Amino acid sequence: MAKKRIALIAHDHKKDEMVELASKHADLLRQCNLVATGTTGKRLAQEVGLTVERKLSGPSGGDLQIGAELAEGKVDCVIFLRDPMTPQPHEPDINALVRACDVHNIPCATNVASATMLLAQLVPHHHHSHN
Ligand code: PGA
Repeated sequence: MAKKRIALIAHDHKKDEMVELASKHADLLRQCNLVATGTTGKRLAQEVGLTVERKLSGPSGGDLQIGAELAEGKVDCVIFLRDPMTPQPHEPDINALVRACDVHNIPCATNVASATMLLAQLVPHHHHSHN
């Protein structure tokens, strides 16, 4: 089975939760191909020890870079821990990435509960993977 490519993005107030989530699922994530926005990726590498391809920081265009990859069919799943309580300077970019997920029918979890369910589905199965 080809490695799944997972995009990981967390706004500043959600980065601790992302690190915790990734730590819990580190065994699974190590079997995946990971891409993240700059600061999120740095923390995942330093604090969880994951190998992560890092794009620009979100406010500098990282969300758009991930969205562009996604539009080209290179991203299988997005975990995007948005901060619903804090206005973000790159709100249009955030919306563009979530929209791209909807356009291309790519699963996108925007909170820890849905991310946990999504990751549970990514566990490699041994039989019948075509649906
Ligand atoms: P960052 O980008 O991982 O570089 O912080 C995410 C964001 O805050 O949009």
